[in-house]
Amino acid sequence: MSKYKENLKCSFCGKDKRDSLMLIAGIEGHICETCVEQAYEIINEELKTKPSKGGKNSSFMLPSSITPKDIKSFLDQYIIGQDDAKKYLSVAVYNHYKRLNSKLDDIEIEKSNIILVGETGTGKTLLAKTIARFLDVPFAIVDATVFTEAGYVGEDVESMLSRLLQACDYNVEAAEKGIVYIDEIDKIARKNDNPSITRDVSGEGVQQALLKMLEGTEVNVPPQGGRKHPEQKMVKINTSNILFICGGAFAGIDKLIAKRMNTQVIGYNSEEKHTIDRDNMMQYVTHQDLKHFGMIPELIGRLPVLTYLEPLDLKTLIAILTVPKNALIKQYEKLFEIEGIKLTFTQEAIELVAQKALEYKLGARGLRSLCEMILTDAMFDLPSKEDVTEFVVDRTYAEDKIRKSSKLKLLAA
Ligand code: ADP
Repeated sequence: MSKYKENLKCSFCGKDKRDSLMLIAGIEGHICETCVEQAYEIINEELKTKPSKGGKNSSFMLPSSITPKDIKSFLDQYIIGQDDAKKYLSVAVYNHYKRLNSKLDDIEIEKSNIILVGETGTGKTLLAKTIARFLDVPFAIVDATVFTEAGYVGEDVESMLSRLLQACDYNVEAAEKGIVYIDEIDKIARKNDNPSITRDVSGEGVQQALLKMLEGTEVNVPPQGGRKHPEQKMVKINTSNILFICGGAFAGIDKLIAKRMNTQVIGYNSEEKHTIDRDNMMQYVTHQDLKHFGMIPELIGRLPVLTYLEPLDLKTLIAILTVPKNALIKQYEKLFEIEGIKLTFTQEAIELVAQKALEYKLGARGLRSLCEMILTDAMFDLPSKEDVTEFVVDRTYAEDKIRKSSKLKLLAA
């Protein structure tokens, strides 16, 4: 028996047991430690060049059974209201990925890049993020305000593709079918409708730089982003199949819409009273209004799908707190549950949080800060108390905590 063992060899390199540190037994043979190390290196090399299995949607094929309605139903789980925006987005995304998958060469279907117009905190980023999650494609959020024309201090527009590359571990094929959300697109509007006499570095130049990228072109991208590493090797990315979703608050555009519609935001005209909803002028936004706001026509042309988000009212804010799959209140309940405590927010306390968010114009983004103000003391104290199994937040408790917090004024400032 012992003699038989000494004749063992590595089934891969043939090395004798006596010459190796160890032999690992398999069903049919053995492997030595050197071969294990080499196999490990080969696998690592392979993984670097190939997209990983089971990670991002590597085929980027929208299953044929998926319909725009399915996309909207998914969005409904996470986003309250905003039905029009969801519908437009679902159709645009459906068409975009259908376009990618279609093999027809005779008719080229144009890209359906999207522009979302709506006050800050109404869910524009959340919509774009949720769509990317549904599709399981790489997703990057960039802020248009950091971009400047090439040659000026700031970032080149190409750097947004570096973000996309980083989001998918430098898998170029995946990045080329990803989604980029460009926030604050309204901040690169030129200052007035007329082409400027003086050079407008921050606005029009950046819009010009974006044109080709939105339409589809090959771009040399610095993988690490920025201009700080001139020696880094560039990666070539084709943007033809990248879906760009732009978002902006376009503050004041309601007045331009009203002007176009030959009416006033504030004012009263009995004939139009029934047809025009003056509280939400955003719903009438057109590409023409974006042009008047200062977006150049060429850029608007490359963002064919235009939709709006409604301002959030008290009812919507309450729903945002409680209804979505990962609603804030549900998240806090879960956190407390892990500590073995049943957390309950009374309806009045929930209403108070929504009211304060409205009152201080914090939007939905402020809901989280308000909840933190209310719950921080409890989250600090309760884990060291063994006998507590229930914790109720009522309106009085919530009001007291918000009042004592010094942060509220800062947030509202
Ligand atoms: P925007 O991009 O329009 O400024 P965000 O998408 O960043 O707004 O929204 C901020 C936060 O507010 C989100 O993370 C989300 O929690 C919440 N929120 C905003 N609108 C909605 C909505 N309609 N439904 C659910 N949550 C929302």
